[in-house]
Order: sequence, then structure tokens, then C-alpha cells
Amino acid sequence: MTTNSPVLPLVDLKLQYKNLKSEIDAAIHRVLENTTFILGPEVEHFERRFAAFCEVEHCIGVANGTDATAMALQAVGVVAGDEVITVPNTFIATVEGITEIGAIPVFVDVLDTTMLMDPTKLESAITPKTKAILPVHLYGQVADMDLILDIAKKHGLKVVEDACQAHGAQYKGRKAGSFGDAATFSFYPGKNLGAYGDAGAVVTKHDYVAKIVRKKRNHGRATKYTHDFEGRNSRMDGIQGAVLCVKLQYLETWNKNRGLIAKRYNAGFEKLGIRTLAVDADCESANHLYVIRVDNRDKLLEHLIGIGIEAGIHYPVPLHLQKAYSHLNLGAGSFPVAEKIATEIISLPIFPELTETDIDRVIGAVSHFFKI
Ligand SMILES: *Cc1c(COP(=O)(O)O)cnc(C)c1O
Repeated sequence: MTTNSPVLPLVDLKLQYKNLKSEIDAAIHRVLENTTFILGPEVEHFERRFAAFCEVEHCIGVANGTDATAMALQAVGVVAGDEVITVPNTFIATVEGITEIGAIPVFVDVLDTTMLMDPTKLESAITPKTKAILPVHLYGQVADMDLILDIAKKHGLKVVEDACQAHGAQYKGRKAGSFGDAATFSFYPGKNLGAYGDAGAVVTKHDYVAKIVRKKRNHGRATKYTHDFEGRNSRMDGIQGAVLCVKLQYLETWNKNRGLIAKRYNAGFEKLGIRTLAVDADCESANHLYVIRVDNRDKLLEHLIGIGIEAGIHYPVPLHLQKAYSHLNLGAGSFPVAEKIATEIISLPIFPELTETDIDRVIGAVSHFFKI
């Protein structure tokens, strides 16, 4: 019955390349001809344009989103032993950015509706060692920044946004990445704005943050052989800068398409009585992932993959229950909302080129599975 259907991927980067091939190839060739392989004019060009896109003064291109988080936290003053508050239902990179600089992750639970940081849980997690709050703009939404910034201000804390899934998302009419003292982006190929390899960025409105990250990413260099402090090697490649410049021109159109796709999915699933993501009215999601919540999730995942629909789970194990963080001694029951969500969520294919036929095929397959 479904054997003739081609495999529907979670994200289709081949199709995207096919549509942009001549522009992308030309951009990459320019870098090859100029041999500007690390940083250079293509990266600077991208930095200026992405800062403007995010409505902030500065963008610093780095090697990946994990490094971006570590360097942004350092730049706002987080040092070894400081506590940084974040959420357990995120990709491990969020917390690696904290621990990489010797800081200590402290988790708070999330809201059952949006699955984002629950601001009402923040104050009881603050201790004299807390230095920063790191909300995660999961699935393309934006966390409740007004409440988070109020609490940060009251307690003298810095805020760094993990916007690695939220390129172009908005909250109360402003772009994700423009709210905190700094924000971090990943351009991992599958993100809404993806490079052709690893890449990332820190964006910030503060001159002092930009100055520190610019040096940090490049061995603490003041000039070629003078170093004001030890940095690291975390520079964006010229080829990635060139590719990202091409793709940035399409990001708003792509996000608009993602919005239409999410709308069609929502209408279909609501008719079936299936729980969709309750995006807050203040937030315009970038729809990085399309997530529904169901009973019998593991069986549904197996079924969809069996018929060639590449669904996924983001993320199946909350970080506090990962072996990697067993030393934090946070057992099952520590963050009940995040733990329950992890058993219900399933991510369905979403990418700007997804057709109405594809969407209806996915809705039909879920409907068939539940015999609705
Ligand atoms: C992708 C991602 C990151 C960082 O990823 P890199 O692979 O290091 O670029 C961080 N946080 C979240 C939530 C992400 O999805």
C-alpha cells in the first residue's frame, strides 16, 4: 500500500541544495579562488547581515553553537564554579556550553503547554552562586523573556538565550536573540539556517560582550602574535560564511513556509483530537521542529519509520536522567513535566519545501495508526 511512497525525510537538505545550486556553488568557488578559508570577508559580511537580521549590534561567527554558548557565558562573566540555570529538555550542547567553562548547570522544569522554561520555577533555583539564566528557545518558539528578564534584573543575573533552534523567531514583535545580554546560534546543517558543515554565532547588543568573544574565538589575539588572554580556536570558516550569506536571503521565506506547514498540520491533527504544540500568543515560532504529543509514542514512531516517514524524538531522555549527568544526583521525579513530555513527543517532517501532499500523507499515517 505504501511501498511505492518515497521516503519522506525529517529535513530535506538535498532538495534545498538543488534549488540553490548555482548560487551556492558560486559562493563556495569565490572562497576557493580567494583562499579566505578562515574568517575573512565572507564571514564579516555574514556577521553584519545576521546582526541586522537579529536586530542587535554585533554578531561574531564561531565554529559551532556549543562553543558559542561557552564563550557567550564567559563574556558575560560566568567563571568556574558559578551556577547557570537552564532546562532539562534540550539538546546536550546547551549544558556542554555551561560545563565546558567549569560552570555548574542547575535545571528548572518547563511549562506543560509550550515545553519552555517555566519562569515561576526560577526564583527557588537561584542561590548565591547563580550567575546567569540560559533559556532555550526550543522547537523555534521563544521563552517568556519578559518574565525571565524581570527575575534576572531583580537578582542581578545575566541572561544568555540559546537560540540555536530559533533563527528568525519573534516574541512580542522582536527577534529571538535580541533580548538577553547575549544569544547563541548554531548553523548545524539541519537548523532553519544551516551551513555546509559546523558553524555558530554569538549575537549581542553589548560592545563588551562582542569584544571578548571576538578575541576568545581566535586564541585571545589582540594582533597576530600578541594575546591578551588565552582564547580558543573557534572561528567560522570562509566557506560557511559564504554559504550562510546566500541562505540568509531566503530565511524569512523559508520560515513563512514552515509557518504554513505547521498551520496545515495543526488543522489536521486538531480534527483528529491529537495534541499539538501550544505556541504562546506572544510568540511567532520559527517552527524548527513540528512536534505532537501522543500516547503510545514509541509504537507510532516505529510505525511511521516502517512506512518511510522519518519521524524523530527531540529529546527522548531529559538531560538530568542521562548517564553523563548522573553525578548531579537528580533522579526520576526531579522535573516531572519535562519527564512526562519526553514520553509523549514525536517530531514529524518539516522543511520549507514540504508539499501539501507530504503533509496530508503524514496526517493520514498518524490517523491510520490510531484508527481515528
Ligand atoms: C543545535 C543546538 C545547539 C548547538 O549545536 P552545535 O551542534 O554545537 O552547533 C545548542 N542548543 C540547542 C537547543 C540546539 O538545538
